[in-house]
Amino acid sequence: MDRLIPILKTNDIPEKYIQTPVAQLLEYHDLNTPFETYDNAQLLIGMCMDNRKNLNIPDNFAYIIRTGGGNLRYSEFKVSYAIAIGKVKYIVLIGHSNCGMVDLFSKKEAFISGLVEEAGWQRDWAEDHFIHFSPMFEIGSEIDFLMSETKRLRLRYSKINIVPMYYQLEDNKLYLIEEH
Ligand SMILES: [Zn+2]
Repeated sequence: MDRLIPILKTNDIPEKYIQTPVAQLLEYHDLNTPFETYDNAQLLIGMCMDNRKNLNIPDNFAYIIRTGGGNLRYSEFKVSYAIAIGKVKYIVLIGHSNCGMVDLFSKKEAFISGLVEEAGWQRDWAEDHFIHFSPMFEIGSEIDFLMSETKRLRLRYSKINIVPMYYQLEDNKLYLIEEH
């Protein structure tokens, strides 16, 4: 696994991010820097829908797209919107530990019976739904998926800075990832 870089003080933020929304995000969330006021979004954040995560950031600071696993493959129009209309130059992709979109197959029976019991679906609809969609939303491994999504978005939006980060549920901190 690529090395996680903890942000315990401003000096831990790499030079290349100083004076960018990436450094601001890390300072707000990890270092509790007082909030500035923003009129426009400074960046786009892509993160998982998981309820255990909450970012400590000011109003207006970021567009945020939350999806299962932080997967932006099916949210591309919204990414394009943030860039074309919102003029963001940075996208921060946030993976996290213990993601529910890892090994969906192990949850197949619970997913199907849950839909039947909780939503009133017929069992065969629920089965088809799972079989059709689970391969699209399975992420395999949190960090591997995050790095492949980073690579894909860098190719797709070549003038935009794509920065992967990791949210560790155990301490609720954001980490940078040292890339090879
Ligand atoms: Zn997740």
